[in-house]
Amino acid sequence: MFYSQNEDELIAYGKKLGLMLQAGDVLVLTGDLGAGKTTITKGIAKGLGITQMIKSPTYTIVREYDGRLPLYHLDVYRIGNDPDSIDLDDFLYGDGVTVIEWGNLLDTQLLDDYLDIQLTPSGDGRKLDFVAHGPRSQELLEALEGE
Ligand code: ADP
Ligand code: MG
Repeated sequence: MFYSQNEDELIAYGKKLGLMLQAGDVLVLTGDLGAGKTTITKGIAKGLGITQMIKSPTYTIVREYDGRLPLYHLDVYRIGNDPDSIDLDDFLYGDGVTVIEWGNLLDTQLLDDYLDIQLTPSGDGRKLDFVAHGPRSQELLEALEGE
């Protein structure tokens, strides 16, 4: 569990996470519209050394950025009921890091090891809860909690 008081704190937390990421890592961001999914992704991108501006991929489904590792930033809100509209495997468990907004709408059977980050508004801030789904995401979670 982590609590971010404001947007900057959430970005800073995302950056810390981004610094820990390795090729093949998959993060699923769960939370309603405005919960902070794109905001934490901005921080994750910073941690990956990406200097480009992160834009919401809602209408494009996937945006790719180049940093220390490639970042595949997906927003699958619009493909929830038509998973065939994108070949997810092209963006998973390869040379880069994958961040999936609304990933809980996917059939999670399509995923192997992933860290689920649940964002919930709480007062002016955001509460973050984590669920690891596999050994690598468990390791990441422990590293985050050990910071
Ligand atoms: P999502 O991608 O989940 O729809 P965004 O990250 O695009 O959400 O938007 C989050 C919005 O909430 C932004 O407008 C941001 O300024 C606002 N906000 C308010 N408080 C916070 C906070 N503590 N952490 C992150 N964002 C916050
Ligand atoms: Mg978003």
